[in-house]
Amino acid sequence: MIRADSELRYLKGVGPRRAEKLAGSGFKTVEDLLYVLPFRWEDRRSFAAVADLRPGGPEATLSVRVDSSRLIRTRRRGFTIFEAVVSDDSGSIKGVWYNQPYLARVLTDERQVILYGRAITDRYGHVVLDNAEYEFIDGEDREGVHAGRIVPVYRKLADLNSRALRRLIHLCLAEMDPQSLDDLVPSEVLERHGMCDRRQALWGVHFPAADASLDELREGRTVAQRSLAFEEIFLLQLALALRRHGLHHEVRGIAYEVPDLLKTRIKKMLPFELTRAQKKVIGEIGADLKSSHPMNRLLQGDVGSGKTVVALLTLLVAIENGYQAALMAPTEILAEQHHRNIRRMIDGSEIDCEVVCLTGSLRAAERREVLGKIADHRAQLVIGTHALFEAGVDFARLGLAVIDEQHRFGVLQRAALTGKGERPDVLVMTATPIPRSLAMTLYGDLDLSVIDELPPGRTPVRTLVRTERGRSRVYDGLRKEVGRGRQVYIVVPLVEETAKSDLKAADAFALQLRTEIFPDLEIGMVHGRMKAAEKEAVMSGFREGRIQILVATTVIEVGVDVPNATVMLVEHAERFGLSQLHQLRGRVGRGSDRSYCVLMVGQEFSGQDAGERLAVMERTSDGFEIAEKDLELRGPGAVFGTHQHGLSDLQFLAQVLKIPALLEAARREAQAMIAESADSRERAHELLGSLRGNWEKRLDLARVG
Ligand code: ADP
Ligand code: MG
Repeated sequence: MIRADSELRYLKGVGPRRAEKLAGSGFKTVEDLLYVLPFRWEDRRSFAAVADLRPGGPEATLSVRVDSSRLIRTRRRGFTIFEAVVSDDSGSIKGVWYNQPYLARVLTDERQVILYGRAITDRYGHVVLDNAEYEFIDGEDREGVHAGRIVPVYRKLADLNSRALRRLIHLCLAEMDPQSLDDLVPSEVLERHGMCDRRQALWGVHFPAADASLDELREGRTVAQRSLAFEEIFLLQLALALRRHGLHHEVRGIAYEVPDLLKTRIKKMLPFELTRAQKKVIGEIGADLKSSHPMNRLLQGDVGSGKTVVALLTLLVAIENGYQAALMAPTEILAEQHHRNIRRMIDGSEIDCEVVCLTGSLRAAERREVLGKIADHRAQLVIGTHALFEAGVDFARLGLAVIDEQHRFGVLQRAALTGKGERPDVLVMTATPIPRSLAMTLYGDLDLSVIDELPPGRTPVRTLVRTERGRSRVYDGLRKEVGRGRQVYIVVPLVEETAKSDLKAADAFALQLRTEIFPDLEIGMVHGRMKAAEKEAVMSGFREGRIQILVATTVIEVGVDVPNATVMLVEHAERFGLSQLHQLRGRVGRGSDRSYCVLMVGQEFSGQDAGERLAVMERTSDGFEIAEKDLELRGPGAVFGTHQHGLSDLQFLAQVLKIPALLEAARREAQAMIAESADSRERAHELLGSLRGNWEKRLDLARVG
């Protein structure tokens, strides 16, 4: 019998190589795998009839046979259309797929296949099935895992597709020793809130009962989903409450001195006056630094509000006091940008400080050199990605850590970094305007400072929602801006950075721009699957103005600073959350020139609710208002813009969950447990400790490209 902690390589169908791949993505045990949650469910209790498909209707699951197919190469170079006529007993329909020529070898004639998608009217007035997902269920399925029930659909994990994952997870659930999976939430708490135990919850989320409601599943309202969500949030709240308790009762931190000399030097270093809001938060941070209580503060400020300068001043105080300081960014591009900017500011000042940059893509020799400098205090300021808190990074005397773009990092990662010093002060910065209710829940252990003002001299970005019909005029507009010496971002969405078909579509789009639309302009492209050095080469080309149009997946989402860029064109804007669009829009409007943000709505969505949602963007540039709207429309996951990075499970659950009452209940229970007695705190400690490896992943907000 397998156990929850059995290693995956002992499972049928998982060889050593596959197990290694899974381990590489952080999935080692059966329990790890059970927390790979489906992102949707398909009703395969019975299939929809082809004859019943209506254009614009909901997504449907069909069981069909491929009658005939053809692959069309259009005149646009590199662009293909695959068409297949498929049928069931009720009738037939044409399915259409763009830029996936390999389908010609997959969806071959007479093959039986399950398709999932929606019907649309194509431009010739025919009803077609648009870009449907496919799955084969020929082969054995004696236990009815893949059909005859509501089936889970997963994102690809390592080299396992949805079907393979479904089979494996079913195997785990069916054959696992029930005794080996303890409940994490005390049973009296589960009972009090009408939750089921962990095993039942996992069964119910992966393989819902035959009479489950798909609507409830979609909205995250089933008891199983609520129970898993509750567990997740309870544990998070427990960690936060313990931390807070610890900070307030036990710990003494470093009391820094903030010398006047430093202030004058810094003033000289800056080419501008600080805004009132920057001064205010610097005051708040300064008070934390001087106190012997460790700082644990969240700095919130809209994109472009000038958080980097505040961070730098904070870092310099620690350095001036003889400590090391670390600045952690969520991506390599950002780490390197910070490194460059901060170096430049420090070099232009009288401050003497060695700055190093540690990212995952350093060569072995460089890495050794950098690690050496960190270990013996030759480096005072260390900038990097999450490579900073990996094992093997030893600081000589870490006194302060600034974490940029907090929402990508989990609580435990924060703890891992701060574990590297004695009791370092921590400042986390986020451009995500987190509504207060949510901030309390997710960052309950942090004090809050807000920069509520942008530096002067900015012109608000003009935002336009456009459809396909307006595309050529949009291109004319881009050309005009480039003609005036300006630069342009074009963002294309990827469902997942690793989804091949999406990446191909993005490539094809870039190619079309290069060869047909703007053959005379320099067009660069960056995406999450490029090597860091390649990415950096393109980014520096853009920064230095050699590249006029940068086509990017959302890797530019956070923090990139190129003041000469004045247009942000977002393709398929309907696929993004409002808060994410707000972040993207923040990339332009950094100079005094008029800037534009154009939101292109895909053909199939124009006119629908996407238009109404996006209209919010035209109306306001207030990040908080936008975040509240997003929260209201789509739930917490939307605010954190996780679609583009693969959802962590907490975020997934939070997203399907629009039930603040549940968050609140979990918080109260966790706080009660921590407040109750030293014994119960000890129990909480043990619980969290025993979970650590596992749990770190589940609360992992740091899966970025
Ligand atoms: P964010 O909060 O998004 O990280 P940055 O720190 O990148 O914002 O700042 C955005 C831009 O504004 C930078 O080019 C920075 O040099 C500039 N900036 C920051 N503070 C001020 C200020 N007080 N006055 C003028 N420009 C400023
Ligand atoms: Mg920033």
